[in-house]
Amino acid sequence: MPKRDLVLLALDDDTILQLMQRALNAASYETAIAPNRESLDKIIVETIPAVAMIGEQFDGVSGIMSARKILGRFPTMPILIYAEKESTLLYKEILQYGLSGCLYPPLRNDDITGIVERSLKRARSLGDWLRREVKRTTASLKRRATLSESELKRYEFIFANIQDGVVILDEDGRIQLINRAMEIAFDLSRENLRGKLISDVIKHPDIDSLLNRAEDLPLKYHEINFDDGRIYNAQFTPLRDFGSVITVQDISYLKQLDRLKNEFVHTVSHDLRSPLTSVLGYTELIERVGVLNEEQTGFIDRIRSSVKSITSLVDDLLDLSRLEAGFDTRREVVNIENILNFALDSMDSQLQLNNLTIQTDIEEKLPELQGNPIRLRQLLDNLLGNAAKYSPKNSTIRISLKTEGNLIILSISDEGAGIPQSEQARIFEKFYRASNVTNEYSGSGLGLAIVKSIVESHQGRIWVESIKGKGSTFFVVLPTHRSD
Ligand code: ADP
Repeated sequence: MPKRDLVLLALDDDTILQLMQRALNAASYETAIAPNRESLDKIIVETIPAVAMIGEQFDGVSGIMSARKILGRFPTMPILIYAEKESTLLYKEILQYGLSGCLYPPLRNDDITGIVERSLKRARSLGDWLRREVKRTTASLKRRATLSESELKRYEFIFANIQDGVVILDEDGRIQLINRAMEIAFDLSRENLRGKLISDVIKHPDIDSLLNRAEDLPLKYHEINFDDGRIYNAQFTPLRDFGSVITVQDISYLKQLDRLKNEFVHTVSHDLRSPLTSVLGYTELIERVGVLNEEQTGFIDRIRSSVKSITSLVDDLLDLSRLEAGFDTRREVVNIENILNFALDSMDSQLQLNNLTIQTDIEEKLPELQGNPIRLRQLLDNLLGNAAKYSPKNSTIRISLKTEGNLIILSISDEGAGIPQSEQARIFEKFYRASNVTNEYSGSGLGLAIVKSIVESHQGRIWVESIKGKGSTFFVVLPTHRSD
C-alpha cells in the first residue's frame, strides 16, 4: 500500500482540530497533532510532514511567525493558515512570506481536503522541477569537467610540442612547467624538474643576467650565446600573482644572415670610400687649374657637399659594421661625466642657435666605466645631437646620470614632438626614420643603430620612453667598472 501523506495540524481550537482530522482521515490522509509550539518544532524535524496547517494564532504567537520559522528550514514545505475570518492583511502576509494559502469558516470537508490536495500537487510539481534542474545542472557540470580534462590534455600536448623553449616559474623561481624544446636547448636531462630552482637547473651566465636584470629593470630580452655557436633570444615575462615565464627561440640563422649582410655592407662601403675621397680631392684641385666662373663654383660646392654627405653615410656604415663585427675591443677606465662635459662643450653653438637650455642632474662621485672613450663620446654626441635636432626652439634638454647597484643610468629628455608608440621599437634599426621627421630634419637613420651597437658592445641596454607631443627620454644603462 502506498504511504499516505502526513498532514500536521497545529491549532488551538479543539473543535476545528477534530473537524479537520476527521475530514482528512476520511480522505485517506494521515494526521499528526501538535498541541504546542515545542511539539510543532519536534514533529516537523522528526517526521517532515507533507503539509502543515497552522492556526492564525497558535500557542500564544502568530501562526505566520511559526510558518516562517518552518520555511527557514524546509523552504519547499506547503504551509496553510487557518483563520477565524477572512482578511486582506492575512492574504497579504501569506503572499509576502510564500505560504500556500489559507482556510476559514464555514468549513466543509471538501474545502479542507481540496486546499490540502492543491497545495500538495503544487509542492510535488515544484519538487519535480527542482529534481529536473539539479539533474540538468549536474549533467552539464559533468560534461564540463570531462571537457576540461580533454582540453587540459590538448593544452599539455600543445605546450610540450611548441617549437620555442618555454619554462614557467613560480614566484620563487621554481620550475612549474618546462617543455621539450627548452630541455633540448639547455641539454637538460628528462628527470622531473618540477619544483627545482631555475638557477640550479640552468647554469648559464646569460640566463643569470636575464633573471637578475628582469628583477630591477624593465629589460625583458637577452641573447643567449652557447659555446657551440648557437644563439638564442630569451624573453622574460612576469605573470601577475603567479610568477614568470621564460621563452627562448633559436635565432642562429638570423644572426648568420645578419653577419652576411654586414660583411656585404662593409665591403661595399669600404670600396666606395676611396673613389669618394678622390672625387672630393679633384673638386679641390679643379679650382687650382684655372679660374671658375660663379656658376661653376656653385656647382662644385654642391658636388662637394653631396660627396661629404655620402662620405659621412659610408663612414657611419663602416663604423656600424666594425661595431657589429665585434672589432671594437679597446677598453679603459673612463669617467662618463667628463665625456659628457666635452660633448656638451662641442655642441654649444647648436644649442645657442635654437636657444636650448641644458639642465643636468649628475650624482656625486659617479663610479667609473670600463669602456672605449671614443665610442662613448660618439654615443653621447648622437643622443644629444638628436635631442637638440628634434627639440623646439627655447625648450630644455634634461640630462641625468645616476647609479643603481652596479649600473650607471644615463637619461636624456627633450620636449620635442615625441615618437609615435608603434614606431618606438623600430627607431634603433638601421635607416629607420620615424614618421615624426619631416624634410626639415636632415639625417640618415643610422645614428641610433650606431648608439645601440655601442651600448651593446659595452654590455649595456638602451630604450626610449616617449609621448607624442610631449617629448622623448632615451635611457642608457651601462655596467660600472669593477676593480677585481
Ligand atoms: P636620424 O638621422 O633620422 O636622426 P637616428 O637613427 O638618430 O636617425 O634616429 C632614428 C629616428 O628616431 C629619427 O629619424 C627620429 O624619427 C627618431 N628620433 C630619434 N631621436 C629622437 C628625439 N630625440 N625626438 C624625436 N624623435 C627622435
